[in-house]
Amino acid sequence: MIDAGLSCRELFRRMQLAGEDPGTLDAIVVTHEHQDHVNGLSVTARKLDIPVYFTEATHRAWMRWILPRRQMTYAEWLERCRQQAAERQAEADASAEEGQQDEPETESAEVAAAAPETPAEPVTDRPPTRKEDPSWLPAVEYFESGKPFRIGDIDVSPFTIPHDAADPVGFVLQTEGLRLGFATDLGYIPPNVKSQLKNINLLLLESNHDLEMLRDGPYPWSVKQRVLSRVGHLSNDAAAEFLSTDYDGQAAYIILAHLSENNNLPELARVAADRALSSRASLLSNRLLLASQHEPLEAIAF
Ligand SMILES: [Zn+2]
Ligand SMILES: [Zn+2]
Repeated sequence: MIDAGLSCRELFRRMQLAGEDPGTLDAIVVTHEHQDHVNGLSVTARKLDIPVYFTEATHRAWMRWILPRRQMTYAEWLERCRQQAAERQAEADASAEEGQQDEPETESAEVAAAAPETPAEPVTDRPPTRKEDPSWLPAVEYFESGKPFRIGDIDVSPFTIPHDAADPVGFVLQTEGLRLGFATDLGYIPPNVKSQLKNINLLLLESNHDLEMLRDGPYPWSVKQRVLSRVGHLSNDAAAEFLSTDYDGQAAYIILAHLSENNNLPELARVAADRALSSRASLLSNRLLLASQHEPLEAIAF
């Protein structure tokens, strides 16, 4: 499974609607740490007891997101130890005054000595083992952009995409002679992505917003700037531009995905892509599908 942005319950419900058994999933591969891609990640991975594949930077960023309040700087940690030691001392003093013979508290000196063991950053080079830790996952596997790896009988090729996350990637999955391309959350389509998306049998491509709807829409100016930027999201026009120029026309299916609910309409995304495809006779056999935020597409069989 690529990303887990919905809750585990909803992911399972939608897989079942599409005739797929969640129990057959072997792993989750993560494109980047933004919330709409990882909301159901830990629950799903735990429930299925399957590994999660990240780049190391994405894993670290995800840990920072999931552990916002558990984070402490070293100085804060030391300060807390001092406070706790002082409280214990005060309790001991109070008991002594009452004439009770408590065991002496000797921890305060040891606490300071133990300090180097507690890191300011979460330890990410080995997975945490405690189930109560929200960042605990059954297994974490690291991959690097540009270095293909294999999960079962699927070859996974991660490639860098321009997006404002720690280390965002798209994927080409190759199995049984088919190549599936996934590219969402990218501000534009750079040459490395264009070359990855060659000879693809099924292409899932972002068609995030209509430029006019975004400009006139409800988002604050700073957010509009972010979406429009080179590390934001792909507009309907930019997706269409790719389809009418650099795309090689090899896909039997093109799925427009990651449509904004506020700044796009499915018809606008479809019309832009349709126009691009119909401009080249060789693309007329490409079937265009739209991914909705609220219901699954039917399973696609080759
Ligand atoms: Zn994103
Ligand atoms: Zn996203």
